Amino acid sequence: MKRIGRIFLVLLVVLSLVACGGKEEKKVVYVGTNAEFPPFEYLEEGEIVGFDMDLINEISKDQGLEIQIQDMSFDGLLPALQTKKIDIVIAGMTATDERKKSVNFSESYYTASQVIIVKDSDTEISGFDSLKGKKVGVMLGFTGDVVVSEMEGVESKKYNAAYAAIMDLKNDKVDAVVLDSEPATNFVSGNAGIKVVEGEAEKEEYAIAVRKEDGELLDKLNSGLKNLKSSGKYEELIKKHF
Ligand code: GLN
Repeated sequence: MKRIGRIFLVLLVVLSLVACGGKEEKKVVYVGTNAEFPPFEYLEEGEIVGFDMDLINEISKDQGLEIQIQDMSFDGLLPALQTKKIDIVIAGMTATDERKKSVNFSESYYTASQVIIVKDSDTEISGFDSLKGKKVGVMLGFTGDVVVSEMEGVESKKYNAAYAAIMDLKNDKVDAVVLDSEPATNFVSGNAGIKVVEGEAEKEEYAIAVRKEDGELLDKLNSGLKNLKSSGKYEELIKKHF
């Protein structure tokens, strides 16, 4: 009887350890995004959807991570990461050298570029070189803002939302808008009278950001990404969204 009691006790301890271990594994990982960047992330009937959302959900499934997505302003994402309000940023975010000083990025998951949007009637702007003397709309803190601000003789007007910049372009308040290629294509197809200027563009790589000290999480994101690429799931998502 005594022996049975002891076995029971051991079993109880083992079971509770397993239960605690399980809980540890299911720690929620908070993911920050800015759902104003179609087709990467946008709101559809109140739900955050898009390529990045499918990608992070698939990576999490592959790596056994439990995630919760939070929508916030784009310029609030990296501060929220640093202050541990979120653990991951996926937001069509370009892995720039400047950002790499404060966070670590995963492998690139998409190559994009900065493009110029003008009115259909425009005949003067044919590339970044011809922006001199022009008034150009950019999104505050985006890579397009950095590119245009570094150009001499170009006046930039900064916006919080791409839609507002596109409206100003249509109403002749700016001569052009510089924006990431995919959202640009999206805006042009949804708005009559504007076009993307053909020609050279500034290439950049989108990647997922984590805190510098979260090496283990970064490894998981990279392995998940690699698995999705080799399984064909990544290609499937590209076809679905682009
Ligand atoms: N790729 C751009 C950047 O990183 C814009 C990203 C976005 O608006 N979501 O600045």
